Amino acid sequence: MIEVVRRPRQGLFLPEADLWLDPSSKAERAFISHAHADHVARNRLSLCSALTADLIRVRYGTSKTGAQEVRALPWRIPVPWKKGWEIRLLPAGHIVGSAMLHLTRLSDGATLLYTGDYKLRTGLTAEPCELMPADTLVMETTFGLPRFVFPPLQATSEAVLQFVNETLAEGRLPILLGYSLGKAQEILAILHQGGHPVMCHDSILKLMPLLQALPGMPECRPFDANSAQDHVLVFPPQSIRELNLGAWTGKTRSAMLSGWALEKSARFRYRVDAMFPLSDHADYPELWETVQMVRPRRIYTVHGHTLEFAADLRRKGWEAWSLERDDQLELSLE
Ligand SMILES: [Zn+2]
Repeated sequence: MIEVVRRPRQGLFLPEADLWLDPSSKAERAFISHAHADHVARNRLSLCSALTADLIRVRYGTSKTGAQEVRALPWRIPVPWKKGWEIRLLPAGHIVGSAMLHLTRLSDGATLLYTGDYKLRTGLTAEPCELMPADTLVMETTFGLPRFVFPPLQATSEAVLQFVNETLAEGRLPILLGYSLGKAQEILAILHQGGHPVMCHDSILKLMPLLQALPGMPECRPFDANSAQDHVLVFPPQSIRELNLGAWTGKTRSAMLSGWALEKSARFRYRVDAMFPLSDHADYPELWETVQMVRPRRIYTVHGHTLEFAADLRRKGWEAWSLERDDQLELSLE
C-alpha cells in the first residue's frame, strides 16, 4: 500500500511520490485541493484544478505566486507524475474548483485517494463529487459524529428564503453570512432562485468575474445604504462588524449558513438571529457512503472527529486510523 505520513508542522506527505497534500507551510511539491487555505501559494510547485489555480491568483495575487509554479491539471485524466506514478484529479464537491487526488503506483497498481475537504451531496455551484476505488483512503471527517446529519438542500433553501421574505416584510434588511469562497456562491444561487437583488462584500465581488459562468449567479453590487431597500446582503462573517449600516443600523436580521447550525449553541456563538445548516462538508452518513464506494483496505481520517470516526470504522471491521491523534496507542490499551 502507498505510505502516507503526517509531519508535525507541515501536514500530510507521500514520501515515495514526494508530494505534500495541502501543506500548511511552504513545500517543494504540493497538491492543493481547493482555494480556501491562505497558504496555498507559497509552494515551489502546486498542483491543482484550473479553477483553483485562477482563484489562487485572484484571491492571493501574483506577487505571492510570482516565482512559484501553479500547475493546473485536468479533471479525471491520468497524468504522469515523477517516475512510476500516475495522478488524477476528481471533483470533490466541496466548493467550486475543489479536487480530490487519486494516485496509482504503476509498479504494482497500488492506489490512494485523498479526499481533501469534500461532500457527496450535490450543491448549487460546486462540481458534483466523483469517487474512485482505492486501496488507501485518506478522508476528511470534520462532521464524523452520528449526530451530524444535514437536511436536504431544498429544505434549507426554502427556510433561508422564508427568513429573507419575513425580514423584508418587516421593513428590515436581511444579512446572510457565509465565507467569501464557496458558501457565498451557494447563498447567491439560493437568492437567485428567490429573485432577490443582492449587495455583497468586496471579497465576494472580487471573485464574480471568475464565477459569473456558474449556473444561477445573480448580479451583485457593493453595499450602499441609500439604495439597499429590498436587497439582501451577503457578507463573510468576520467582515460584518466593519460594515457601516447607516440608516439601517438596528434594522437588520442576520443569519449564518454553516454546518455548525446543528449545534444548539451556534446561534449564540456567532451572535446571529438565525442559523441554517448549509455545509460544504460531508455529514456522517456521507462519510460511510464514501467508504462503501471507495472500498479501501486501509483508511486514514483527518480533520475534526478523526478518532471517533476511525473507531466507528474499526468496530465495523475496517482498518482505520486517525492521522492526527494517536489511536493506535488507544487501541493497544483497550
Ligand atoms: Zn475548505
